Amino acid sequence: MKTILTGDRPTGKLHLGHYVGSLRERVLLQNSGEFDKIFIMIADAQALTDHADNPAKVRESVYNVALDYLAVGLDPTKSTLFIQSQVAELFELTAYYLNVVTVSRLERNPTVKTEIAQKGFETSIPAGFLCYPVSQAADITAFDANIVPVGEDQIPMLEQTREIVRKINDIYGEVLVAPEIYLPKNQVCRRLPGIDGKAKMSKTLGNCIYLSDSSATVAAKVKDMYTDPLHIKVSDPGHVEGNVVFTYLDAFCADKKVVADMKEHYQRGGLGDVKVKKFLLEVLEEILTPIRQRRAEYGAHPDEVLKILREGTEKAREKASEVLARLKGAMKINYFD
Ligand code: ATP
Ligand code: MG
Repeated sequence: MKTILTGDRPTGKLHLGHYVGSLRERVLLQNSGEFDKIFIMIADAQALTDHADNPAKVRESVYNVALDYLAVGLDPTKSTLFIQSQVAELFELTAYYLNVVTVSRLERNPTVKTEIAQKGFETSIPAGFLCYPVSQAADITAFDANIVPVGEDQIPMLEQTREIVRKINDIYGEVLVAPEIYLPKNQVCRRLPGIDGKAKMSKTLGNCIYLSDSSATVAAKVKDMYTDPLHIKVSDPGHVEGNVVFTYLDAFCADKKVVADMKEHYQRGGLGDVKVKKFLLEVLEEILTPIRQRRAEYGAHPDEVLKILREGTEKAREKASEVLARLKGAMKINYFD
């Protein structure tokens, strides 16, 4: 059995980082026909671990993320799209997994550490937030997933999941499937920087190009993109390292030869930022135009979107309850069977 589980937090709309880090890979894997089951989760309960005071944002984002999924080509006849909070089994699994994880192990998770600093949580970490990697282990194992397509920030989560699987299986017998991370082959796609050229593109940091941005918005964002501060005159030799316009060309342009030639010309001098940005905009628009069209089509039928999520969630519940029953049996807490 080859099964995929992956997902996103509904804390806003999805952006180009999600696209190259995970969405594009998911669609390719989905259409490869090599997978028996594909579960795509909208992680609203996880979003609430740092948005407890803003449930309206989470609710609205669930619908937006679902539209983004359908827009990029996730097909509900091939992939099961579902909402995390509606699968109660996931929270039962989390409760049992928490018993095999130490607080110091949770505090060592490098991605969580970075996020705690970003969110200013140092002196007041919500317990649910600290424990979200454990709930992620439940999300993955509840579906017997063996492949998890995600970006690089998820490496520590997968490590922690595999540790939990090992511990549970050591104590209770072989009940859980150990998952493998699936990262994009193209290095730059594993952690796409924001348009400011600094940290990774992230909703929290507000340095994103969204899949749902209009052509005019994308054009304005590309125009403002950080390039090489030393490249003042067109004739000056330019730097491509750390120049986010070239990083995006590496991530989005399929024609590697054209990008290599442009880099060479830029480094030599004589190629202006305006020209490179114009080309990047063309490359992005070619990707974003069909996505926008499909988004508008589904956006005109919100009932249909809700139906896809309802049916997907029912299917997800069925599978998760099977795995939960298996674990409870192994733990000998199946009194009434
Ligand atoms: P938040 O700020 O709310 O955490 P986010 O933008 O980091 O939002 P997530 O929902 O946490 O997005 O991440 C969903 C998926 O997208 C994960 O697989 C993550 O690895 C991937 N991802 C997010 N940002 C990037 C990025 N800049 N480059 C590559 N992959 C990314
Ligand atoms: Mg994140």
